[in-house]
Amino acid sequence: MATLPVAKVGNPVLRKMAGSVDPAVVPTRAYQQFIDDMFETMDAYEGIGLAAPQVSRSEQLIVMRCDGQDGFPETVLINPRIVFYGPVQAEMWEGCLSVDGLRGKVTRPSSIRVQALDREGRSVDFEAAGLFAVCIQHEMDHLIGKLFLDRMTDLSTLTQLKEFDAYWKQEPATVI
Ligand code: ZN
Repeated sequence: MATLPVAKVGNPVLRKMAGSVDPAVVPTRAYQQFIDDMFETMDAYEGIGLAAPQVSRSEQLIVMRCDGQDGFPETVLINPRIVFYGPVQAEMWEGCLSVDGLRGKVTRPSSIRVQALDREGRSVDFEAAGLFAVCIQHEMDHLIGKLFLDRMTDLSTLTQLKEFDAYWKQEPATVI
């Protein structure tokens, strides 16, 4: 296992379209090791999601996990596609391991349906809602060269972490 270096905003790898992963590669020991390294890196920086371009590999792989009441189980999505967006929008604070020290509010569909391969290379098709749906959309944005900053409609909510903790942390996520 290894913690991988995280590409930061300004690194061109974060602005590229990620290539699809050859399903034949997924079961290989090297690729499974890469997935484990992605989780180790995500955990080392206390993230809830990480996309392969963030560790400078421009390919369609994301890993996610979030413990707690509104959390979601360990999830690996390879070559993911969103095939349905629900009609309700959710506004949530987002941050990113590639954008140090900042949070901002982003509005996204609060439910989605996703098709992808899992870490065994099997096809999965599922619906996600709430924080899970937001996290999937945030991570999938990394696969098309987008950051949450690009999704903010009101830049006045851009907040440094210290100020987030002081003024905004208690504010519940609002569904609009
Ligand atoms: Zn991110």
